[in-house]
Amino acid sequence: MFSPSQALMVTGGMDSTVLLYWFKKNNPQPIIVNYGYASFARDVNNLNYHIDKLGLKPLVVIDIEFKDWQKQQGLFTKNYTPKENNPLGDWNDLRYKDFFVEGRNMIMMSYVLAYCSAHKIDELCTGYLYEEEEWCNRRTYKLMTGDNSPQFVDMMNLMSTVGFSHQVRIRAPYYELKYSKMDVYNMGVDLGVDFSKTCSCYFDPVCGVCDNCLLRKQIGVDNG
Ligand SMILES: [Zn+2]
Repeated sequence: MFSPSQALMVTGGMDSTVLLYWFKKNNPQPIIVNYGYASFARDVNNLNYHIDKLGLKPLVVIDIEFKDWQKQQGLFTKNYTPKENNPLGDWNDLRYKDFFVEGRNMIMMSYVLAYCSAHKIDELCTGYLYEEEEWCNRRTYKLMTGDNSPQFVDMMNLMSTVGFSHQVRIRAPYYELKYSKMDVYNMGVDLGVDFSKTCSCYFDPVCGVCDNCLLRKQIGVDNG
């Protein structure tokens, strides 16, 4: 059986951290992209805890720079709290409207693809996932413009066939399995993940009101 070499695109959030444990047996290469966001140091600290514990390859950090016209405040400043009223709904609004970065995941993933291609890595896994409500609303403006959608993964896989010397397949295992955050949490508990060493918030300190914070609260990750 063919065993593809594998990289994991990680953020320090719970979903991609669980991937480290789940795919440990494949000896994956963890990769994070640093675009100068405020919580980067915190996230790397958490990731290194898990990587050391699992004995994985050292974290690869890809530094990129966003231009001022791409950035809004929030991701790049300490002590920022987003002002969105209903981040888990608002299906006809832009996701992360107050701290939107033009082309964020496409730019980040292009760099990671280039890294994987240059290092002959066959498969790149991400921790993207949808809740059931998102699957049901995936043709709304919010999710059509979203850059961690199943369509985004499809598009990036098409793009990966041109301009790269090595064929890298992008995978989103939680999409394939239709796992919700609750399912990921339960799997993480089974795999022995210490969730206090994960942080899903985009901000530093943790804001408590963004969609990731609300989802963590909903499933009770931070209660025990
Ligand atoms: Zn938050």
